Amino acid sequence: MEYRKVKSSGDEISILGFGGMRFPTTSGGKIDELKATELLKTAIDQGVNYIDTAYFYHGGQSESFIGRFLSQGDRSRVKIATKMPPWLVHHEKDYDLIFNEQLRRLQTDVIDYYLLHALNRENWEKFLALDVFAFLNRIKQSGQVKNIGFSFHGDRELFKEIIDAYPWDFCQIQYNILDAYNQAGVEGLDYAAARDIAVFIMEPLRGGSLVNRLPKQVLETYEAAVPGRTPAEWALKWIWDHEGVTMVLSGMSEMQHVTDNIAFAAHMTPGALSDTERQVVKAVKSIYLDLQRVPCTGCQYCLPCPFGVDIPRCFDLYNSKYLLEQKVGTFYWMQLGGMNGKPSHASLCVSCGKCLEHCPQSINIPLELKAVTKDLEGPFMKPVMKVATGAAKGYGAIKRKLKG
Ligand code: SF4
Ligand code: SF4
Repeated sequence: MEYRKVKSSGDEISILGFGGMRFPTTSGGKIDELKATELLKTAIDQGVNYIDTAYFYHGGQSESFIGRFLSQGDRSRVKIATKMPPWLVHHEKDYDLIFNEQLRRLQTDVIDYYLLHALNRENWEKFLALDVFAFLNRIKQSGQVKNIGFSFHGDRELFKEIIDAYPWDFCQIQYNILDAYNQAGVEGLDYAAARDIAVFIMEPLRGGSLVNRLPKQVLETYEAAVPGRTPAEWALKWIWDHEGVTMVLSGMSEMQHVTDNIAFAAHMTPGALSDTERQVVKAVKSIYLDLQRVPCTGCQYCLPCPFGVDIPRCFDLYNSKYLLEQKVGTFYWMQLGGMNGKPSHASLCVSCGKCLEHCPQSINIPLELKAVTKDLEGPFMKPVMKVATGAAKGYGAIKRKLKG
C-alpha cells in the first residue's frame, strides 16, 4: 500500500480509503454486518487506514455499524471521517445535536476527519448563515475533531470561493475519467493542492458505471492497450497518477473489490502512467461522452420521490439502451411498470421539483424523466402498465385472503 501525506497534520493516509456508503446488504436492506466486517478487516490488515462515512449512509446505519466494528479493536489503526448533513441543520444548536449523535454512533471521542457534506451554493449559504465556522473552530479547538474539510458538488467558481473562505485541512471532490472538467474538476483539484489542502476523491468509478456493463468499444480500447488490465485498474490508476490527489475512496461491497483495489494501490506513485496510457483513457472518455444520455451516478440522494418514481433505475435503463446497445423495453416494463404493485416509471413524475435540490450532479431530473418517458414508454406503455398494476394488486389481495 502506498501512503500520501496530509500536509497540515502530517498524517500518512493510505491512497485507498474505504467508503462506507456501499456495504453489502441483506435482503431486508440492512447492512450485512458479517460480510462488511470481513471486508473492513481485510482492508485494514492490508494497509487501508481511512474509513469514510456520513450521517445518512445506509439510512443512518453506516455510522453505527462502523462504531460497533471499531469498538472491537481496530480504532487506533484507522482514521474515521464523517460529515455534517446540511439537510438537517435548521438552527445553530443543531450542529451540536447532530455531532454528539455521530460521536455516540461511532463510539469515539475523536473524529479524525470531519466534513461539511455535499456543498453546493445552497448548502454553503445555509451553513454560512448559521455561523458554521464558529462550530468548526469549536470542535477543532476542543480536540474532538482533528482535521476539517468539506465534500463538494457545486461548480468550479464556488469551489475556489469555499477553498479561500476557511483554513481547510482537506476537501473531497468527485473526480474520475468522465469528471475531469465537471464540478471542481482538475482545475479545482490543482487549486486546492497548490494551497497544501489534501484532496480526497469520491466516485472514482462513478458509482460503478465505469466498470460494470461497459460499452463494447470501451472494452476493446482498454484490451488493445494492455491486455488483461481491468477497467477498475485503469480508472483508479488514472486518478492516482495525479500528484495533487492524496487518497481515493472506494465503496467496496465485495471481497474481490477489496483485494483488487489493494493490489492496484500497491505501487501507484504520481506520474506512474505513461503518455500512451493517458491517451487510452482520453479515447475511452470520448466514447462514453458520445453514448451516455444522463450523468447519473446512482447515488439515490434524490429518493424517495413522493410520486414513487425510481429515478436512478429509470436513468440506468435509459443509459443502458445507448451505452450497451441493449433492448431495455421489457426490463423497464417488468421492473418499473408495477408488476409488484408499485409502479415507479418515469411518467409518474409530476415535475414537483422536490428531487432537484438533492442531486449532486445537478441533473434536471424532471426534464430527463420526460426524455425517458418518450424514449422507453411509448404510446402503448401506460395502458399496459395500468393492467399490470391492477393484476398485481388483485394477486396481492388473493394472497392476503389465502393467508388470512
Ligand atoms: S420532480 Fe418528478 S421525480 Fe422529482 S420528486 Fe417530483 S415527481 Fe418525483
Ligand atoms: S439523479 Fe442525481 S441524486 Fe438521483 S441517483 Fe442520479 S445522480 Fe444521484
